[in-house]
Amino acid sequence: MKKIHFYTLQNFRSIPQMERVSESFKRDIEIVGRVLPFKTNNYVVNELIDWDNVENDPIFTLNFPRQGMLSKSHYDKVTKLIDNHADKQTFDKAVEKIRLTLNPNPAGQEHNVPYLGEIKLKGVQHKYPETVLFFPSQGQTCHAYCTFCFRWPQFSGMNELKFAMKDAELLFNYLKTRKTVSDVLFTGGDPMVMNAAILESYILPLLGPGFEHIHTIRIGSKSLAYWPYRYLTDDDSEQVLRLFRKIREAGKNLSFQAHFNHPQELSTVAVHEAIERILATGAQIRTQSPLMRNINDRPEIWAEMWRKQVDLGMFPYYMFVARDTGAKEYFELPLERCWKIFRRAYRQVSGLCRTVRGPSMSAHPGKIQVLGVTEVRGEKVFVLRFLQGRNPRWVQIPFFARYDPKATWFDQLKPAFGEEKFFFEDRQYYASATKPFLFE
Ligand SMILES: *Cc1c(COP(=O)(O)O)cnc(C)c1O
Ligand code: SF4
Repeated sequence: MKKIHFYTLQNFRSIPQMERVSESFKRDIEIVGRVLPFKTNNYVVNELIDWDNVENDPIFTLNFPRQGMLSKSHYDKVTKLIDNHADKQTFDKAVEKIRLTLNPNPAGQEHNVPYLGEIKLKGVQHKYPETVLFFPSQGQTCHAYCTFCFRWPQFSGMNELKFAMKDAELLFNYLKTRKTVSDVLFTGGDPMVMNAAILESYILPLLGPGFEHIHTIRIGSKSLAYWPYRYLTDDDSEQVLRLFRKIREAGKNLSFQAHFNHPQELSTVAVHEAIERILATGAQIRTQSPLMRNINDRPEIWAEMWRKQVDLGMFPYYMFVARDTGAKEYFELPLERCWKIFRRAYRQVSGLCRTVRGPSMSAHPGKIQVLGVTEVRGEKVFVLRFLQGRNPRWVQIPFFARYDPKATWFDQLKPAFGEEKFFFEDRQYYASATKPFLFE
C-alpha cells in the first residue's frame, strides 16, 4: 500500500530532496506560488523528478512554479508584499488582481454551459454535438497541479469561475433529452481523485435504460502520470477497475484520455503496471498533451513519447497548443514553431503513432489545427482547419490566415488575402451545441 502525500506552498521545504535546491530557487517558488497555486506528491517527487537537474528538469518545471512564470512586474509586486509583511487582506487583493490579468477563463468556456429548461447546468459543458463534458464537483482537484494548467482558477479559490455541479440528476436528465450525444467525458480537475463509490454513482446509471445513445464513457485524467498507484494499491483500486470492466460489460466503450506531457512520465514500473491493468479491463487509452516551451519543445521528445505510448498499448490522440492562460509566456511557442515540431516528430514515427492530431488550438470557435505554413500566389499564409467546430459544418474546411511569425494563439491571426473575416465569422454559420435544434 502506497499512501499519497501532498506537497504545497505550505510544506514543500520539508521534501528531503529540497536540501539540494538553492535558497534563491526556493524563494522563487514561494513568491510565484502565491499567485499560481501548486501541489505535488511523493510519487512525482521520488520517482519522476531528476533532482540533480532541477534547473531544467521538465517534471520539476511542471510541478513547481519558478520565476519566469510571472512577469517581472508581478514578481516584484509579490516580492515587495512579502518583504513588507503585508496583511492578509492587502495580499489577497493584490494576488487576485494579478490573477485576473492572467486570463483565468480562456476560450469563452462559459458559452458552452447548457440549459435544461430554465436551469443552467453549471457543471456541464456542451460545445460539440456528440460529446458532453461533465465536471463532477468532487473531482475539482488533481493528484498534482500542472504549472501550465488552464484550470488553475479552480484550485486557487476563484470560486465564481468554478465549473462544477453536485447534482448528477440534472446531467442525467439533460443527456436523456439529447440524443445526438454519444460520448460523456468526465473531466475536472481530475475525476480520478474521486473514490470508486462516487465514480460509480455517476457512471453506473449511464449504463442503464434511457442512455442507449451513450456509446462511450470518457475519463480525462492525469492520474497515470502523477499517481499510477490509483490503479495498483489505493484502497479502492480493485473497485475502480471493476467499474471499468462493468462499462465494457454493458456494451459501452471506456476511453481513458490520459495526459502525458513528457516521456519521463512513462518510465516507471508503476505506470507500466497501471496501464496494463486499465487495458486488461477492456478500456482503451488515448493520450494527449499540450506542446510547451521548457517542457517538450523538441520533436525527438514527442517522437519518443508517441513510440513509448504505442509500445505500451495506448493511442496518441491530440497535441495541443498551450492555452493562452496562466503562465503562458513561459510555456507558449509561436504557431509556426508548433507546426514544425509536430511535423518533424510525426515524420519519424510509424503510422501506428500517427493517430495523433495537431497542433490544435481549443479556441472559442472550435478545435483549430495548424496544417502548415505555405505560400499562395505570393502571400505567405497559415493553412488551418477545424477538427471540431462550434458549428459542425465548419469541420475539415481548409482556411487561411495571414502569416505571422509571432502569433501564438488563434485570436492573434487575421484572415489572409486581405479578407475581412474568416468564413465562419459569417453570422449565418454561427451556432452552438447549447442550441441543439441546429443539430437535430
Ligand atoms: C476536445 C473537446 C471535446 C472532445 O472532442 P473530440 O475531438 O471528440 O475528442 C469535447 N468538448 C470540448 C469542449 C472539447 O474541447
Ligand atoms: S492534471 Fe490536468 S486539470 Fe489537473 S492541473 Fe494538470 S492539466 Fe490541470
